[in-house]
Amino acid sequence: MGSSLRLFRIWGIDVKVHWSFLLILVYGAFLYSGQTNRLTGALYGVVVILLLFVCVLLHEFGHALTAKYFKVNVPHITLLPIGGVAQLERMPRQPLQEFLIAIAGPAVNFVLALLLLPLAVLVIGLTWGADSLLSLLTYAQTRMMTPSLDGLLVYLAVTNIALGLFNLLPAFPMDGGRVLRSLLAMAMPYVRATRIAVTVGRLMAVLMALWGLGGNIMLLLIAFFIYVGGRGELEAVESRYVLKDIRAKDALNREARTIYTSESIDKVVDLVMTTYQADFPVFDLGNNFVGVLTRPRLVAVLRTQGREGRIVDVMIPAQDVPPVGPETTLADVWDKMMEAGSRVVAVKEQGRFLGLITLDDISELIQVVGATKERDERVAAQPTANPTDFSN
Ligand SMILES: [Zn+2]
Repeated sequence: MGSSLRLFRIWGIDVKVHWSFLLILVYGAFLYSGQTNRLTGALYGVVVILLLFVCVLLHEFGHALTAKYFKVNVPHITLLPIGGVAQLERMPRQPLQEFLIAIAGPAVNFVLALLLLPLAVLVIGLTWGADSLLSLLTYAQTRMMTPSLDGLLVYLAVTNIALGLFNLLPAFPMDGGRVLRSLLAMAMPYVRATRIAVTVGRLMAVLMALWGLGGNIMLLLIAFFIYVGGRGELEAVESRYVLKDIRAKDALNREARTIYTSESIDKVVDLVMTTYQADFPVFDLGNNFVGVLTRPRLVAVLRTQGREGRIVDVMIPAQDVPPVGPETTLADVWDKMMEAGSRVVAVKEQGRFLGLITLDDISELIQVVGATKERDERVAAQPTANPTDFSN
């Protein structure tokens, strides 16, 4: 998602658009260019797509503003050809909050449809002469493809209903899948709720892919994102589950080597080469914790300044290292790292420095403890041996 253009910023949220969005505008122009006047048709197509994405943007603001109401930060919303993405810094833990955030997007589309429909009916009613509902629908359908005000209104109303319904499909991590997960999580553990939602989502993705094979590339792309996105979120939830029972004080490396501001960069290079440690807490001569020197920082310094630099100039100052208490669970430590965009936290007790926890420590723990938990679960779930199994 690197190549996005920032459009504007509102309520602290950056609204960005991905370059590939241009393709969808071209597609819109192409779609309507078969009209008698090609240029007017093409321009109309561009307007239709732009308005459609205004609706998509409003949908994302539904999620984003509800999330902000629950104190979840939303740094940006990105518009892609397959729809929008509101980037939430974290998922709220309370199922009810997730439910409301997820449902807020489709709700916006339904409200828009409710506002647009009477207008569309009003404008169409002025020209429409038929007497049955079916003929009204057929008429509306033909108007939708004709560049006109009533055509535009009908198109937007219908599309908003379709958008709302499509997003409510239980295809986790789409909105409907999140609604499903949050409802399940009200009755069972979060991890199990996520596993079920992801399984249902995969089934939906397969169905969408089969449907998409008929020639709908958009649907194929969405199916792919559902499959990959679901797996990513499941892994994150399972990792968090592993981490929630471990406290910061138990994850500290008590043997960690510390360095002093008076020491040379050379010394740290030696330490990195001869130990497994990658991140070093830095102390001043009064034995106060003043910062952290991480391996990425060290590598960057060696590249630019060589071994001449001073540790104080290259370390991450202590005030930029998020602090956590010794009783904080690693799940919360992990959240804090994500929120702060930091790969290291300092464990402190009443201002006294106890040690560092790094992202490497956490991923090691996830692997080791996760593997143990998985084995325990498997052993517990194994049925007793069936004698007929031995016959072959
Ligand atoms: Zn949504």
